[in-house]
Amino acid sequence: MLERTEEQEILLKNLKRVVDEKVRTAAAETDRTGIFNWDIVSLFWDLGLLKIMLPPEYEGWPSNPTHTLCLSIEEIAKACASSALLLIIQAVGSYPLIFAGNEAQKKTYFPMISDERRLIGYLVTEPGAGSDVQAIRCAARRTGDHYVLNGRKVFATNGSVAGIYSVLAKTGEKGLSFFIVERDRKGISIGRVEDKCGFRGSNTAEVILEDVAVPEGNLIGRPGDGFKVAMGDFDMSRPAVAALSLGLAEGAVDYAVEYARERQTFGKPLIQHQAIQFLLADAATLIEASRGLMERAAIAFDSRQRNTKLASMAKFFCSDAAMKITTDMVQVLGGYGYVRDYPIERMFRDAKLTQIFEGANQIQRMIIGREISRR
Ligand SMILES: Cc1cc2nc3c(=O)[nH]c(=O)nc-3n(C[C@H](O)[C@H](O)[C@H](O)COP(=O)(O)OP(=O)(O)OC[C@H]3O[C@@H](n4cnc5c(N)ncnc54)[C@H](O)[C@@H]3O)c2cc1C
Repeated sequence: MLERTEEQEILLKNLKRVVDEKVRTAAAETDRTGIFNWDIVSLFWDLGLLKIMLPPEYEGWPSNPTHTLCLSIEEIAKACASSALLLIIQAVGSYPLIFAGNEAQKKTYFPMISDERRLIGYLVTEPGAGSDVQAIRCAARRTGDHYVLNGRKVFATNGSVAGIYSVLAKTGEKGLSFFIVERDRKGISIGRVEDKCGFRGSNTAEVILEDVAVPEGNLIGRPGDGFKVAMGDFDMSRPAVAALSLGLAEGAVDYAVEYARERQTFGKPLIQHQAIQFLLADAATLIEASRGLMERAAIAFDSRQRNTKLASMAKFFCSDAAMKITTDMVQVLGGYGYVRDYPIERMFRDAKLTQIFEGANQIQRMIIGREISRR
């Protein structure tokens, strides 16, 4: 574990209390109903968690923001992964503006985030383009001093609750570009809202863009910068998904250990059986290894070192670990691990997504292989 600053220690101490009092208690109900929990969103605004990655002059975290973001995500995910995802998507959606936006865009849109408290969605994936980002078809056609966007974006986290979107569209034959688009612009409508196996407290929606006109000033960076920006965004978001996975795994182990101390079989507590101890030993070891990778990847991003390989390693290792650990913790609880009265089955369902989004784990291995083979 890397050393925390005093400010991080204070933030995490407060956050732990709030998570225990407000987030953990709401997690099961939000999962059951699938209703987006605005109270949690307000709580996170109050704590400053939804603007950590913004520049400090817009109330972002002054030093090591990615590391701080990851530690916060980990703490929340121990109790509720859907709530922790709010922090990730806010950071991912803001990234194009933070790292490629101009001063005028920052002055216009960062106050909408930090003062007006708007959520920001990230619209990249389409029905025919998930892993293969370059295959997107959403098109931005230039007409005079405007661009007109047409396309269909799927699987947008916070798609029907966000107030602003970062939208990736084609500008020309090969070029991709990000646009900042307010949700209330004419031509934007919400399609299906997904009914998911896990992360049921997180909103995932289809967003349809039909002749949506935006001023040319809404283009982020230069035409054709979009693919590079999207790949840079992953270098920040993959450590964050690693942190989410780590928190999920820790939450499951914490619960299972307490359960195994109480539950008796064959005249002794479950935790005294070696087979159960082995499951816990494997989990505890994977958690320590996950933390090392996640923190290194996050700190490398904060210190502007190239972290693409580390970020992919952290993402796939931590999410594969979370899937194995939550599966094993279901086993520790036996039948009780498989029913809704206990939080482990929710964690088990939630863990699966961490292997799929922000680049599925097959894609992470491809990236690591490519990075190794580079000179
Ligand atoms: C709940 C949820 C929230 C999401 N939130 C967002 C969001 O906010 N914004 C957004 O833009 N997207 C979002 N996504 C989309 C997500 O990033 C994609 O689902 C993901 O990138 C995988 O794309 P796909 O589902 O189209 O799978 P595909 O690309 O069709 O891949 C299917 C499988 O094949 C594997 N595969 C693909 N190509 C190869 C290859 N060359 N070699 C080996 N294996 C391969 C993949 O690893 C995967 O396992 C979200 C998805 C979900 C489910």
